[in-house]
Amino acid sequence: MKADLLIAGGTVIDGTGTPPRAADVAVTGDRIAVVDPLPAGVEAATVLDATDRVVTPGFIDVHLHTDTAALAPDTETNSGLPSLRQGVTSEICGNCGFSPFPVSDTVADTLGDVLTAAMGEGARFFADVPAYRAALEERPLGPNYAPLAGHGALRMTAVGFDDRVATTDEIAEMCDALDAALAEGCFGMSTGLIYPPSMFAPTEEIVALAHVLARHGRLYTTHMRDEANRVDEAIDEALEIGRESGVPVQISHHKVVGRPNWGHSTATLERIDSARAGGLDVALDVYPYTASSTGLLALFPRWLLDGGLASVSRLTENETRDAVRAESRTAGPGARSALVDAPDTVVISAAAHHPDLEGHSLTEIAGDNGDPLDTACDLLVEDPGVQVIVHQMNEEDVTRILAHPLAVVGSDGGLGGGKPHPRRAGAFTRVLGRYVRDREALDLVEAVRKMTGAPAERFGLADRGVIATGRRADLVVFDPDTVRDGATYDDPLAPRAECPTSSSTAAS
Ligand SMILES: [Zn+2]
Repeated sequence: MKADLLIAGGTVIDGTGTPPRAADVAVTGDRIAVVDPLPAGVEAATVLDATDRVVTPGFIDVHLHTDTAALAPDTETNSGLPSLRQGVTSEICGNCGFSPFPVSDTVADTLGDVLTAAMGEGARFFADVPAYRAALEERPLGPNYAPLAGHGALRMTAVGFDDRVATTDEIAEMCDALDAALAEGCFGMSTGLIYPPSMFAPTEEIVALAHVLARHGRLYTTHMRDEANRVDEAIDEALEIGRESGVPVQISHHKVVGRPNWGHSTATLERIDSARAGGLDVALDVYPYTASSTGLLALFPRWLLDGGLASVSRLTENETRDAVRAESRTAGPGARSALVDAPDTVVISAAAHHPDLEGHSLTEIAGDNGDPLDTACDLLVEDPGVQVIVHQMNEEDVTRILAHPLAVVGSDGGLGGGKPHPRRAGAFTRVLGRYVRDREALDLVEAVRKMTGAPAERFGLADRGVIATGRRADLVVFDPDTVRDGATYDDPLAPRAECPTSSSTAAS
């Protein structure tokens, strides 16, 4: 036979969790033609020597905010390179309630600034999945895209940006729009229950939409209402939505935030395990870092976001600041209270008007005589799109969640400039280097399953995620002894670090 590519002499880890084996992989077109034993006389246009290397399926990143990367200015972050350089060949977008469709033209005109703040420069909005797909196809694409419909997009179009319960007609409109998006090839629906307008929905509204998902055999992913001191209640809400509708539930970027909550992942994982044991189809994903990242606005109280970004100008009033201060004090430990109780953990990652502040904490920026909460308010009034990195997690929790059998890997990487979270460029190589090799928190076969076969099955990517004859030839070859992440908080897009050899380590 004649193949286009032969990857020869490597160790294949096929993505299913079965043990590694020495095998050659032949590729014809975009499909895996055959996996060892190869028939005699295979000829290939290109032969790649994979001796001492591992060959795996291309990694599937289940949680990104890169939906409009291909439409945005042509920068390195937007190019797809940060994904491809760490082995990611498929991206699941439309997370945390944000997707660029289905958004009506009227809404795109009036509330476009909200999604631009959420999704970055160049974000555009589309009436439906075919229009989105057509726009993407005009541009060179790096990785494959599998989009989810964002509940925020559905609700903006049907209800607007107000903090109120949707009417029966509005819920029916959202269900119809979701039904259409799923019929057009969408992979599920996400909520972002700390972000407006998704956060304004009561549980019953999400249950109604989850019934539509269940009918299509698609899943529900959720950035839950709380990831700190009320994380148990938030998990219960996600489980209830699964029970009421029969939809598979995916808890996005599971974490426990806030020093007093450290260690609580033992309890959250038990909660998830026991629901699963009771027959509920629930799983989770995680990124391998102890810092989160979001908009600075997400640390502010819900009432400030009622009506859209225009309300943010109220932060110029002392009265409003005092109310924010009071509510942050009673918010309990976690990101929302960080404005008053741990401003040193909140670091500006992108501030278009003040690039000099990027990499500095609210405490540092406020200085000795300033107040960090005032600093945060001043920044937001000027630019509601300011992004932050919040250092409020514990290494043991991250490790425990990552090693859990139901967890798959999602970077939560986004677009935008400044000093973004290094997860965009380093999440997958960090799992392989830091957590598999250096800390032995999970073994390589299991880590590869969490990045390939498991997410493909979970999100319904039928022909990807496993090395087998006939599957798509998304493949990664790497050296398990040296693979590691290079991206750091100081240099967030660095692809990989030079890995010292054992002799130079000994000499240093
Ligand atoms: Zn999120």
